[in-house]
Amino acid sequence: MSKHEAPNADLAELIRTIPDHPKPGIMFRDISTLMLDGGAFAATIDRLADALANGNEGDPPELIAGIEARGFVFASALAYRLGCGVLMLRKRGKLPGPRVSVEYALEYGTDMLEMHDDACGPGASIVLVDDLIATGGTALAAVELLTSRGAHVEQALFVIDLPDLGGADRLREAGVSTHALIAFDGD
Ligand code: AMP
Repeated sequence: MSKHEAPNADLAELIRTIPDHPKPGIMFRDISTLMLDGGAFAATIDRLADALANGNEGDPPELIAGIEARGFVFASALAYRLGCGVLMLRKRGKLPGPRVSVEYALEYGTDMLEMHDDACGPGASIVLVDDLIATGGTALAAVELLTSRGAHVEQALFVIDLPDLGGADRLREAGVSTHALIAFDGD
């Protein structure tokens, strides 16, 4: 990396930006184009694992919690690499068993996040993973769900941060160590 290059610029350049999706004014950061590149996908998982090791003193968590749907892709691969289980945080109405729910605001609209109420025990160490953090509403809802079952959210990892929307700072203010590989400023 040159002195002036942003961190993980090689990955950032593979992310496609679609203006005005899903509504006017939103710059949609389409990570599917990065996922199609095997080497870049592997590098993304390796760098998330490195970020975890740096923030976690080497002890892997018990579970990686992924947020539906793109978060599942990164959470699963990271969990495989670390030897952890995967906890699915799903959108409204998808889970078959007894569940806990939290409603939250998105950058565009509102939604609900749910998890099975027996998915993790009290004291479970969990790392939260999603593709992108914008306002932080989704990630904060995820932390609320996990901590409502007594879990400890050790760290939150994202491929992309939109720092101007303040979500990563909100998560840090809530006491969660937060790291993203790439920042897109000005969104
Ligand atoms: P937020 O709750 O505002 O932090 O939004 C984060 C969630 O919405 C993530 O699951 C993202 O996948 C999705 N998201 C929000 N804004 C964008 C964006 N500009 N481009 C792509 N995905 C987004």
